[in-house]
Formats: sequence, structure tokens, C-alpha cells
Amino acid sequence: MRLAGELLAGDRRALGKAITLVESARADHRTEAVELLQAVLPHTGHGVRLGISGAPGVGKSTFIDAFGNHVIDDGNRLAVLAVDPSSSRSGGSILGDKTRMEELARRPEAFIRPSPAGRTLGGVARRTREAMLLCEAAGFDVVIVETVGVGQSETAVADMVDLFCLLAAPGGGDDLQGIKRGVMELAELVVVTKADGDLLPAANRAAADLRHALHLMRPVHDAWAAQVLSTSSVEGTGLGEVWAAVREHRDTLDAAGALGPMRSEQLRRWLWTELREGLVERFVASAGEQLADAELDVVAGRVLPTVAADHLLKPR
Ligand code: GDP
Repeated sequence: MRLAGELLAGDRRALGKAITLVESARADHRTEAVELLQAVLPHTGHGVRLGISGAPGVGKSTFIDAFGNHVIDDGNRLAVLAVDPSSSRSGGSILGDKTRMEELARRPEAFIRPSPAGRTLGGVARRTREAMLLCEAAGFDVVIVETVGVGQSETAVADMVDLFCLLAAPGGGDDLQGIKRGVMELAELVVVTKADGDLLPAANRAAADLRHALHLMRPVHDAWAAQVLSTSSVEGTGLGEVWAAVREHRDTLDAAGALGPMRSEQLRRWLWTELREGLVERFVASAGEQLADAELDVVAGRVLPTVAADHLLKPR
């Protein structure tokens, strides 16, 4: 397969083409994509997989732009992929747009890919997982999966990366910047952004509050206590510390023998997600009118959902 060869040689255009292939809904493309993924699978897994999330305006793109340059200067190739729940509704993407990370986009060691449009978050997440494998096969050492913190996408991203990093901006009144507890529990690294100028005191307060909140939570891995770091993407401060923490996290998981089991568990959950979604898709395709009728009966209160589901699932 020519594309596989070009991809493994690290060609960025081949990587772009390969990702387009895994994003395609066409059946013949899917066959090719699966073949390609299987061919390159032995060349994946070495990368540092980093999830980055935060509310709109928290400074994600400015941070990834500055941080990414730092990571590249340290001798790495970096890919940025986006999981954007809004792309499943609007068909467009607000994340991963190249214009959001101008400096990074100019560097030959960087690859930036917007979120694929998809009907479901599950669909977007599957393609992003596959794109991540392709990036690793193309020799990218660090893959950042970016997501906007508005919905369930944080959980999906945390479940495909080695380290989930949450960005929090200073201010906003309440001490924890409105971050939901469930999201906070996923974070092993919290980065306070905009720690500069007039915002510096508020950034310091936010960092202290976040440290306190994280201290009370159960760690994701016993070997790693969540860290809170302050940065300014504008002044370029704290970026080296974040990169050092990311590498330290990887070393810690390696030393504890925790990376392999964690990734295996992620793969197992991915299999079950595929099974569940695949079964439902097939069922909906085969049920036809019976399903529509059952739905009418259920919403009208004539038939209980349990009874309707049981009836529909009976082998015909
Ligand atoms: P995103 O929506 O999370 O991607 O946020 P952006 O990166 O677009 O940043 C939102 C706003 O915060 C922009 O106006 C940025 O200029 C500003 N901003 C981002 N990083 C910093 C920083 O380090 N310091 C300051 N003072 N402002 C920043």
C-alpha cells in the first residue's frame, strides 16, 4: 500500500490524506482505511498522548500555539487534533482551525487538523482515535487532542489520551471557574492561563483554589498527584514547566508499569463502544417502520418503553 509507505516515511501530505480516508463514511473508503490502520498499527504507541480541554475563551489556542512551539524546540514533532462536539451539530468546527494557531501552523514539525464533522460525539471520537494512531505512525512524538469544555467530550478525550490537562482562566467570580467536579476528576494536570499583568493576582488565587480542590479528590493514578501550574502564553512563562510535568507524568506511569494497562483498558472500552454503536446502527437500519410505530406507541403512553423494546428485540 503506497499511502502506508508514505505515511511511515513521515510525509505530512500523506498523513492528511490518510486522515481524510478514516473520516470518510463511504464503504469502500472504510475498507481502505481499515487496511491502512492495520498496516501501520505496529508503528504506533510510542507517542505522548495529551488531552487539553477548557471553556471557550480560556486561552486554549493561544496556549497550544505557544506550548507547541516549545515542545517542537525541544526536538519533537507535534500533531494537534480536535474533538469538537459542536461540529456534530453545525457540520463546522470551531476548534483545530489552523488560523487559531498561526505560529505553530507555519512549522514543518507541526500538524494541525480540525475536528471531523460527525453525527455523534462517538463518531467524532472514533475518527480522532484513528487519526491519533496515524499521527504516531507518521512519526509524531506528541499528539495533542484538544476539546472545548462544554459537554461530554471531556470524558471521551480523557479516555483516549495518557494525560488529561485542564485549562482554567483566572477570575470569573467563583473560585473554581465553574469547572464541573466530574471534569476536574479527570484532570491530572491543571494549567492556569493568563498569569500575567493585571490578571496575575487572580491567577495565583485560582491556582491556590484549584490545588485545594484537587487535593480532596481521588487521583486517577495512585502514583501521580495532580499538579496545578500557572502560565502566560503571551509572555511565554510556565510553558517549560508544563512540558516538564507532561514528561514526568509519562516517566511516572512507565516506572509504575501503569501506561500499558491503562491503554489496554482504553482499547477494551473502545471495543465495547464500537459494539454498542454498531449494534444500535444495525438494529435501526433493520427495524424500519416497526421502530417508528413503537416509538409512536411509547410517546403516546399506550405502551411501556420496556415492553416495546422487548418486543422489537425479539428475533423475527
Ligand atoms: P480559546 O477559545 O480557549 O481557544 O481561547 P483563545 O486562545 O482564543 O484566547 C481567548 C482570549 O484570551 C484571547 O483574547 C487571547 O488574546 C487571550 N489570552 C490567551 N492567552 C493569554 C495569556 O497568556 N495572557 C493574556 N493576558 N491573555 C491571553
